Formats: sequence, C-alpha cells, structure tokens
Amino acid sequence: MVALPENGRHRIIEVIAHPLTQRLPAPTQTSWGRYDAVSILLVEVRTDTGLVGVGESLARFAPVAYAELVEAALAPRLLGQDPLAIGANWARMRRALSGRAGGMLIEAIAGVDIALWDIAGKAANLPIWRLLHGEARPEVPVYAASVNWGGDDEAVAETVARFAERGFGRMKIKIGTPVRAACARIALVRKLAGDDVELTADANWAYVLDDAATVGRALADNGYTWFEEPLRPEDEDGYRMLRARCPVPLAAGESNYTADQAAPLVRDRTLSCLQPNVTRAGGISETLRMARLAAQHDVAYAPHVGMSGIICEAASLHLAAALPNARVMECPVSANRFKSELADLAPGAARAANGNLAVPQEPGLGLSIDWDAVASMEFLARKDVA
Ligand SMILES: [Mg+2]
Repeated sequence: MVALPENGRHRIIEVIAHPLTQRLPAPTQTSWGRYDAVSILLVEVRTDTGLVGVGESLARFAPVAYAELVEAALAPRLLGQDPLAIGANWARMRRALSGRAGGMLIEAIAGVDIALWDIAGKAANLPIWRLLHGEARPEVPVYAASVNWGGDDEAVAETVARFAERGFGRMKIKIGTPVRAACARIALVRKLAGDDVELTADANWAYVLDDAATVGRALADNGYTWFEEPLRPEDEDGYRMLRARCPVPLAAGESNYTADQAAPLVRDRTLSCLQPNVTRAGGISETLRMARLAAQHDVAYAPHVGMSGIICEAASLHLAAALPNARVMECPVSANRFKSELADLAPGAARAANGNLAVPQEPGLGLSIDWDAVASMEFLARKDVA
C-alpha cells in the first residue's frame, strides 16, 4: 500500500511512452495481408506518491509517432492532475482533438487510460476487476486464435491439432477470397476439429455483400458460431442487409474507437457480439461504455486481443471478469514476444487450462513489466520502425 500524502491526493508527475517493435517468430496471415513485424506502445504513468501504472496502445505501425502523441499532446494535460480522477483525465486528453473521436489519438489515450486504472487498483490494493464491481468471475472462457488464411491443408491440420492438444474447445479461423476457397476451408476445419469444437470465422473485411451472404450460408451449414467482420466497418447498411440474409450471428467491433461508433449496430442488434480492443477503444474507460451499451441490448461482449501485448490481454481479462455480458475472450496462440518476454505474467495461451484463463488477483493489472526487455525492443523500434 502506498501512503497518501497529507492532502489525500496523488499527483501525476511523469508520463513516459515506450514504442516497441518485434519481428514475429512466425508471420500472421489474414485477408488483410501478411504481418512479419508488429508494434505496440507501452505507457508508464508515475505519481508523486511512488505509484507506477502501465498501459498499452494499439500502434501497429509507426509506434514512435504514437509516443510523440502521448508525450507532446497528452502528458502536458495530465501533469499535476489526480490520477484517480480517470473520467476527468480522459476528457482532458480527448480535448487534444477538436474533431470526431477516433484514430491514433484515441489509441494513444487508451494506453494512458489503462495505466491510470492500474494506478487506481494499486492505490486501492485491489485488482481492477474488483474496482468494476461486476461479476467477479475467477476465470474467463477463451478461444484459440487463429488458423491462418492461406497455407495448405497440412498447415491447417497442424494448427487445429496444436490448438486441440492445448485443450482449446473453441477456435477461430481466418478466411478471405476467393469465396470458393473460403467455403472449402470452412468445411475442412469443421471436419478436422470435429462437431464438439465451437468454431468462428474472421474475414477481416474481405467481402462485398453478396459474397458475404454465400460465405455465411457455408458457415451455417458447418455449425459455426459467428461470422466476424465480413464487411468493411463503415458499411453499416451492408451489415444490416447481411443480417437479414445470413443465418449465422454477426460479430464486429475491433475497428471501433468509441461507444458512439459501436452504438448503431448494437442498438438494432445487427451484431450479436461486440469485440472492442481495449488498446484501441480508448482504454478500460471507453471499452466499459461499449460493453455496457452492448449489455443493455443483449449483445455479447468478447474482447479482441489480436497481435497486441500482455497488457492488452490483462486489461481484457479484468473487463471480462467483471462484465455481465462477457461471453468469451480471444486467446492468440502464435508466438509473440510482447506476451512471452515483457511481463512476469505468463502468456495467456500457456496459462489457459481447459479453455479458460485465470483472472489476476494482484492489485491493478496484476503484472510487472520487465524493463530490460522493453529497452531492447525500444531500440529496435527507433532503428527499424515500420
Ligand atoms: Mg478480427
């Protein structure tokens, strides 16, 4: 526990950004493209009472630009402020952008916001999920992500077998174009996985409406649970039309920055499942607003993690532990140094038992960062930024 100063308030004295890049040990292939390297931004917030919070921003490319946003546009608005006044601090940061909320600034805010929640938990000596006063689940169901798009049948069989060996009873596959190849892949994975495995498919916006309807029928024929991001996220009318034509529930949300952006397809229940990424969607504060909006409309919440790092995974776990409509969380299984090397919390895929991840019990996010590992990656990011 950290003693409060005499006036009863902590004050923010430093906000530090750490841009990180890694070469992926094995490339990730989606309909969007092939990823050989990936970046994130870590954010460190320090107080005059010795508390340190850490957060993460989704920063796939140009992480140094995100670091500049945090240190030049956000930090000056926070220095001297009370870190526990998270709502006020979020509003202060939001005013760094006079236009609609979105893009890199909201992703940068996400990193700071998560660090402030980490501080709030440490100040209260409670894990973040306890601060959220929700369901208090001891573990969260997860699904293995993902079977790559492309590759041959042998590679697909190897991945499905690896997921099954690790005890995952839920798996996601990536699909794309051509449509016939996607339909063949959908049937192949069902055959390989067997009827008892819960399968979902993610198109990463690969389709136009008619093609998405065709793929949707193949997913229904093979008993898939949801069809993720079939269309580009701006095509809200397309999603509504597809909902009427597609027998499989639709999932999306990782491309949204705010609850306002998620609202139209949640309110009319075009989406059955909302998948915000906490390191994109304004941090824990805004992701909470999105997930609660979804709960009001009986839409499930399923945190997106993707190629993010260990803090994204931990923050998502705290949210899923607390929110009543949390259904299942993404658990990427491919090698990722942002998970295996950065923190003392072992990577989720290694900890997942019987398809569940245990929720951290320590104060704040429940992890401590290995700053030596961070230093080595920061050097790579500055020398070799994508
Ligand atoms: Mg996705």
